[in-house]
Amino acid sequence: MRDNPSPDELKALVEDLNFAQKVDRSLGLIREAWEEFGERMVVANSLGKDSVAVWHLAKRVAPEIRGFIITTRFKPAETVRFMQEEVARYPELRVFRNDEPLPDPELYKVAPDLCCDILKVKPTRWAVEQMNVECWVTGLRCTEGRTRTDFMEVEQRDKGLIKLNPILLWQEREVWQYLALNQVRVNPLYLQGYRSLGCAPCTRIATGPDERCGRWVGTSKCGGECGIHTRPLKTPVEVIV
Ligand code: SF4
Repeated sequence: MRDNPSPDELKALVEDLNFAQKVDRSLGLIREAWEEFGERMVVANSLGKDSVAVWHLAKRVAPEIRGFIITTRFKPAETVRFMQEEVARYPELRVFRNDEPLPDPELYKVAPDLCCDILKVKPTRWAVEQMNVECWVTGLRCTEGRTRTDFMEVEQRDKGLIKLNPILLWQEREVWQYLALNQVRVNPLYLQGYRSLGCAPCTRIATGPDERCGRWVGTSKCGGECGIHTRPLKTPVEVIV
């Protein structure tokens, strides 16, 4: 895999590269990783706009590439329907969901980090293990919000697991530009005004410069992360409830 630019170079590239150059760069990153990892490379698909853009890009490079979806009991009905349609269209997308009982039915209110750990991080670990993943591909972007400014295009937070963020440099407008130009189907919740999608109790329609500011509103996690990008995925960490 290629070396990452420095954080300052990355920030400059966000502004300096045009849309077509960013698409080429993303395809190049995916192609290099596919040549190195082949079927051990898998796309994480959250069913949001960034994920469906990355899924489309990855399919252009490797039509046989596999993906996984992490879903929870709290996903909105629209997202569940969209997921079912996507899985019917792409049977190579595997769905992982943790149905174990929660210590509190409203855990998302009292301990959202623990709730995300149980319902999102844990099944992501299952996906990585069961699909024999050595490189996972995400739709993470560095302009999405306050918690996403320090990521790199190629990362290794866990030994033996590379994370590729091929659209790290894309801005929100460029994602929509790509989806419109390629007529990619998106989650219908965007029609209602959502800009970042998650579980129903933790996601609101929000405006402003921070795309993720409608997530976990009213908690210490507001605008933050569910943990799949920040917690270890290869190392089994037991969740203490
Ligand atoms: S987004 Fe909310 S409901 Fe979903 S797993 Fe995290 S805390 Fe729980």
